Amino acid sequence: MNQNYRQTIAIIGAGASGTTCLIQLVLKYVVNCCTTPLRLLLFERKPEFGPGLAYGTGQEGHLLNTKAGLMGIVPGERLHFVDWMHTNKAAIEKEYLDLEISPDSYPPRMLFGSYVKAMLQEYTDLAAEHDIEIEKVQDEIIDAQLLDDDRFELKSTQGEIFLCDYAILATGNPAPSAFQEFKDLPQFLMSPWPSKKVLETIRDKEASVAIIGSSLTAIDALITLVSNEHKGKIRFFSKTGLLPRVQAAQEVPFDRKYLTLPTIRKCIREKRRALRVTDLIRLFKKEVEEHQPLKPEWSIEKRTAKDTLPLLEEDLQQAYEGSNLYQNILYDMRDDIYPIWQLLSADQKLLFLSWVKPFYDINRHSIPIKNGEKLAALLKQGQLSITGSSKDLEWDGKRFVLQMQDGSTEYADFVINASGPAVTVDEMVDQPLLKQLLGKDLIRSYEAGGIVVDLRTMQVVADQTAGNLYAIGQPLAGIQHEVNSLWFNVEQADLLTNHLLEKIS
Ligand SMILES: Cc1cc2nc3c(=O)[nH]c(=O)nc-3n(C[C@H](O)[C@H](O)[C@H](O)COP(=O)(O)OP(=O)(O)OC[C@H]3O[C@@H](n4cnc5c(N)ncnc54)[C@H](O)[C@@H]3O)c2cc1C
Repeated sequence: MNQNYRQTIAIIGAGASGTTCLIQLVLKYVVNCCTTPLRLLLFERKPEFGPGLAYGTGQEGHLLNTKAGLMGIVPGERLHFVDWMHTNKAAIEKEYLDLEISPDSYPPRMLFGSYVKAMLQEYTDLAAEHDIEIEKVQDEIIDAQLLDDDRFELKSTQGEIFLCDYAILATGNPAPSAFQEFKDLPQFLMSPWPSKKVLETIRDKEASVAIIGSSLTAIDALITLVSNEHKGKIRFFSKTGLLPRVQAAQEVPFDRKYLTLPTIRKCIREKRRALRVTDLIRLFKKEVEEHQPLKPEWSIEKRTAKDTLPLLEEDLQQAYEGSNLYQNILYDMRDDIYPIWQLLSADQKLLFLSWVKPFYDINRHSIPIKNGEKLAALLKQGQLSITGSSKDLEWDGKRFVLQMQDGSTEYADFVINASGPAVTVDEMVDQPLLKQLLGKDLIRSYEAGGIVVDLRTMQVVADQTAGNLYAIGQPLAGIQHEVNSLWFNVEQADLLTNHLLEKIS
């Protein structure tokens, strides 16, 4: 190969995952004194590079759902974001008046987006000092072709063609795929983002709004409305009506005896069979029962078909006291969850996702106390209500008719679809690139959602790839767990960039 040839790595998607890949590539190139000429192409379809969807909603009321002490964008330094806030305290406090800077705080996601942008700038400058070319392209990549020499030809919406030797899919969170039949109705918002679109569509502050879902995404949509003086009734229209639980002000250490990696491995060895979801449930119950004087009534613990406000008030009380046992167990397991996930077969992963996930998610991905208090106040005032038995949704020509399982109906002027991201590539309506790659056998679907990668290297596994396509983040929801946690994606980017740099140097 010509010594002056610049190896080109394309990063498709400049949210937090794409940005951490770029940062790590530049840093490792510099500290390893690499000499191979390098060019990085960073593609982003939105105007801003860095915040992505997760940290670019533009609403100060949208808080981090993860404590600041886990949000470092560089591997092995989970406190890096907190350190950055301390270093930039004077400037930050001018913009965010009552900001608490500590590892246990939950700052606005917008601020985290500014941190990602600042880091991207820092490493772009470092790259320039070391003759690494960085080109930021504001466009969407909609197609890719594998050439005979194993390079990729990427095509953008504007019809431009870009050549690269390696590509990283960091395309992030897909939009919900449900309720496509309403996509042309101006009163139906297909996603809670961008927040600007929600506010521009729902201009009547007295209008009634139904938000499909009751998860973190639904809460985002609610906060967008009420932080912008919406006064009309808002209803979460959801199958379970389960709200995320409330996080304790400080994480409470928990000494696990049963739900541990050694016990799980022992269970596999003794039973001479692969791990099952039922094994995990049994161990979880044992862990809880060991720490609770009265054996819980497990059917009641499901929390469905119960009044939301008393449950939320109870959750808030537990958060003030740090006494939510389920949460303490699951948060303590943070670093074990992915190794356990890898022990489950694809079938068992699917079973977990369809059966256990709603109950797992409300405990594992819970809300900061501030948001819990906000929800409780809205429920008490009667502005917010929650339906946990949604059946169907119709448009009668003037408004939406919300049908419940008991036959009753409610009405709404607008509906926001917060039903959760599409799971399979086929359903990803806003990801034309992934659909094209699937059609060309350049990616392969994984049974439990998303696509297949080699978990040791993050290289895409498919019939036609030549090992030069990588993926990170939400496209791997299924084969990986915790892709909706920044710290996890940062660690996976460490594996990915180590492997990629080894290949080019
Ligand atoms: C609303 C929300 C809040 C969250 N809050 C937290 C939190 O508090 N803490 C936490 O740990 N995790 C949180 N997460 C989880 C989050 O997904 C992870 O932290 C993840 O690392 C986000 O980064 P990402 O780059 O993978 O995805 P995204 O933020 O979705 O960014 C992907 C980017 O790729 C761009 N893109 C996609 N396709 C193309 C294409 N073909 N061409 C060009 N550009 C493209 C998109 O425009 C987008 O900007 C949140 C997720 C969401 C959706």
